Amino acid sequence: MPKPKDLHTIAAANGIATDSTFRAVTPPIYLSSTFAFNGYEKSGAYEYTRTANPSRDMLGDTLAKLEGGAGAVVVCSGMAAVDVVLAQTRKGGLVVAPHDCYGGTYRLLEARQRCGQIEVAFVDQGDAAALSAAFARSPALVLIETPSNPLMRVVDIKAIAAQAKRAGARVAVDNTFLSPALQRPISLGADFVIHSTTKYLNGHSDVVGGAVIAADRADAEALAEWVNVVGVTGAPFDSYLTLRGLRTLFPRVERQQTNAGAIARFLDGHKLVGAVHYPGLPSHPGHGIAKTQQAGFGAMLSFELVGGTEAVRAFVEAIEVFTLAESLGGVESLIAHPATMTHAKMGVEARRIAGISDSLLRLSVGLEAEADLLAGLEAGFAAISNQR
Ligand SMILES: *Cc1c(COP(=O)(O)O)cnc(C)c1O
Repeated sequence: MPKPKDLHTIAAANGIATDSTFRAVTPPIYLSSTFAFNGYEKSGAYEYTRTANPSRDMLGDTLAKLEGGAGAVVVCSGMAAVDVVLAQTRKGGLVVAPHDCYGGTYRLLEARQRCGQIEVAFVDQGDAAALSAAFARSPALVLIETPSNPLMRVVDIKAIAAQAKRAGARVAVDNTFLSPALQRPISLGADFVIHSTTKYLNGHSDVVGGAVIAADRADAEALAEWVNVVGVTGAPFDSYLTLRGLRTLFPRVERQQTNAGAIARFLDGHKLVGAVHYPGLPSHPGHGIAKTQQAGFGAMLSFELVGGTEAVRAFVEAIEVFTLAESLGGVESLIAHPATMTHAKMGVEARRIAGISDSLLRLSVGLEAEADLLAGLEAGFAAISNQR
């Protein structure tokens, strides 16, 4: 397992200057859909891009090294990444998923359950009794997302993975919110790591993509075969862009989480703010676990605005620097209102159970100057005060 300092080097330089044709320093992009045979019955290293492609393999190899896995598949979206992991589950197998998982994952799990491929138990994974009850049903797979979206709840990957091993279940961790720069689930016992590479790994909000990293060689091979069978492998151009973005993963995430910490401290105790959900705050219920299993607290946070829907409207319309948009993990700061945006389709009752109020706002903190970010938030608060 590489040491943390080695990971910086992998991100910045894996595959650099390995081009044998022209000694290009940056690995070239291979857009070709097909590759010529060397002769009758003599294929080369590559045949057809759906199956394998050098640009995509370069990204997969880098991701496998960063997560400490045996291999990786690069697919066309984060949702496809979740789906190919579900496909490794025996027919009718039980999948234990967080009750507050990513909305698209929730929808996919329900859809796969409706067509009879899997059974799903949505569980509050922070509730030990609920988790034990789920494990008593001999699940095939446990899906973990930590920190969760948008409330940043943290669960103990190592403890859940150990419990899963005893129950004979595989463990998949969606590591999208932190990236391998801040959390490495395979080192904590996970069999699979899932990424929406759309977010921090690419980091520039210009690619939709996904990846799965497998701890074991046999799982990595099974995944590679499956993504070719169903044809969900990622495009070479997207792979190239994502690897380009990945080069700066560590400095981006380090700076972004410094900004996020400053914003969390600014919001904490502000008279127009209720709760602030950021694992870096000592008052956060997951602070202790986050400190042990994460290398940092990340750049995502959410908070409750005082004053209800009218305050939310005034705030998001007046806020500066932050852009009102879904998604996260890019170099630019975004603000989202989960109740009307990312989590609108969940419905009122499901949002109430998950604890997502109409006053909750989520921030994805970018690389802008801290002073400008704080001033941008101040502009939003001023609009609420003027309203009164
Ligand atoms: C965005 C996201 C996904 C889905 O990824 P896409 O690339 O949008 O398909 C899955 N899980 C988490 C945690 C996400 O944030």
